[in-house]
Amino acid sequence: MFSVTALPASFGDCLWIEYGPIEAPYALLIDAGPSAPSGLKARLQDLAARQGKLELVVVTHVDADHIGGMLTLLENDFYGVPVRDFWFNAFRHLPGETFGEKQGERLTGLLLEKKVTWNAELNNAALMVGDGDYPQFSLPGGAVITLLSPDAGQLAALKRKWIDVCGEADLYVDIPATTTFYGEEGREHFGGLPNVKALCELDFKEDATEANGSSIAFVLEYEGKRVLLGADAFPSRLIASLGELYGDMQHRFDLVKVPHHGSEKNVSKDFVEALKCPRYLFSSNGARYKHPSRAAVARVIAFGNKPKLLFNYRTEFNEMWASEMLMQLHGYAPFYGDKDQGIEIRLIP
Ligand SMILES: [Zn+2]
Repeated sequence: MFSVTALPASFGDCLWIEYGPIEAPYALLIDAGPSAPSGLKARLQDLAARQGKLELVVVTHVDADHIGGMLTLLENDFYGVPVRDFWFNAFRHLPGETFGEKQGERLTGLLLEKKVTWNAELNNAALMVGDGDYPQFSLPGGAVITLLSPDAGQLAALKRKWIDVCGEADLYVDIPATTTFYGEEGREHFGGLPNVKALCELDFKEDATEANGSSIAFVLEYEGKRVLLGADAFPSRLIASLGELYGDMQHRFDLVKVPHHGSEKNVSKDFVEALKCPRYLFSSNGARYKHPSRAAVARVIAFGNKPKLLFNYRTEFNEMWASEMLMQLHGYAPFYGDKDQGIEIRLIP
């Protein structure tokens, strides 16, 4: 079996992945939402009960909507589940000039305190790509990971902003949750049903935030099935990596976890056109940033090939895509998870 479940992680990501024999699959965990989502503790307790382990835990980057729940999991020793390797690019791993005293932050502190094996396959160096080098990792049971993001420049940029970014992610001090909207979806001038063509005519301006750029994104392959796990990465980085790795043809995937929850700044026409994929997964309940943006979904619809759109929640920010008229017009199909379970995509039964 091979399945990817986007758990209900509010406005963040929490992906639970299983592959291998159905009676005792291997398990991976990518991010843990702003707080550990419903259902995750029970999954870990089940895994502990059958003496399983997490083959890999990844914190893709240092933003609160990916890292917050991980602090709780570490504090609770993953509810008794051993972790074979843990990927996280901490300050000490980042290339570039050093400045001042290295600030301790909570995740790094917990990893050290709990003696979690960390970036082990790299001898505790940074996970990154560059200069034609795309590290590959073989996981137990035959799955393979190929790294696509971040590159050294993106990590160096994060290093310069590390203290700010960790502050925003609530890793040092308590910062009250804000209700600031970043205006991604501020455009209401289409009224009623989204106008896919008009949305696709909007200019694309790529994300430039250091933390998102530092995202660990990768291809996960198992028994011929290929998944692109885009974290909050920049589409230009993903396209460049895929092109260098596999050439300029369309890249076949069975599932793409859309970068940055379907922000309009992380889903470009070029990105969608570079892919040949029947399923696109959007992970967010729309809180805080109103993800996914209509423009991003419109690009997937217009430049993908009659895709299935998979949402882990049904919300006011994505339910407009359930319109029969739009489906008929554009030939796509939406699927919604629910607020307790999220959505599971079975790639191999
Ligand atoms: Zn995010």
